[in-house]
Amino acid sequence: MVEYQIKMLKMGTLYGEKSSLTMGIDFGVPIPIPMWSAAIEGNGHKIVVDTGIKSLEWTKENLGDQYEVEQESDETMEAALEHIGWKPEEVDIVINTHLHYDHCGSNYLFKNAKFYLQSSEWDYAFQPVKNQECFYYEELFGWQAVRYTSWKMLSGEYQILPGLRVIPLGGHSVGGQGVFVNTKEGIVCLAMDAVGLYENLENNILPNIMTNVEDGFKAFDIIRNNSDFVIPGHDTCINKYQSSNFPVVNK
Ligand SMILES: [Zn+2]
Repeated sequence: MVEYQIKMLKMGTLYGEKSSLTMGIDFGVPIPIPMWSAAIEGNGHKIVVDTGIKSLEWTKENLGDQYEVEQESDETMEAALEHIGWKPEEVDIVINTHLHYDHCGSNYLFKNAKFYLQSSEWDYAFQPVKNQECFYYEELFGWQAVRYTSWKMLSGEYQILPGLRVIPLGGHSVGGQGVFVNTKEGIVCLAMDAVGLYENLENNILPNIMTNVEDGFKAFDIIRNNSDFVIPGHDTCINKYQSSNFPVVNK
């Protein structure tokens, strides 16, 4: 079986309320909310999972005062890729777990990549329910950012490469998907916002931003049944540039 190496890329930090990631608990508790993307290499491919925010300026301008946002100099997508010796044009596959602004903001950088997304997420992104409109910005994923011909729209589970597949993980967004990657250590699930904090999975607490509660719990089960390790989308338990050779969170 082909083995891949994963490196985690930090795309900045939001500062907000913990309850925005833990449904029903910890209201008013301030926490840092790092935004994670992943670089996966193997089998002759360079793959990016989620692309972070577009820029610090864009985020400040569009988020208003819901969150404070910070981004260190190596936390732009270009700088983080440079740190690991990659150029955006070398990336041949981008997987968007979903289309919230902190997961597709730098899609525009990847001119030579094929983009993989669940078609249900694409459809939803153009007409989210009212209280989710603030997460979707067409300029980040629409034609201004990515040629339509670069998208590969999926309907369900799909093997992108041997040892690398996506499985729909609903609940947080309508067409969310997790990336299940075969590594030396076992199968790593890049769950991203289906499990915003590791605590969500550990204590069976849904992320607060949800489109479907039942699907959110189903996603937890899918992750538990199909992976050895899980990487959440916004947890401080991950280190910048952490690679899959180091222990990732064991579920
Ligand atoms: Zn997110």
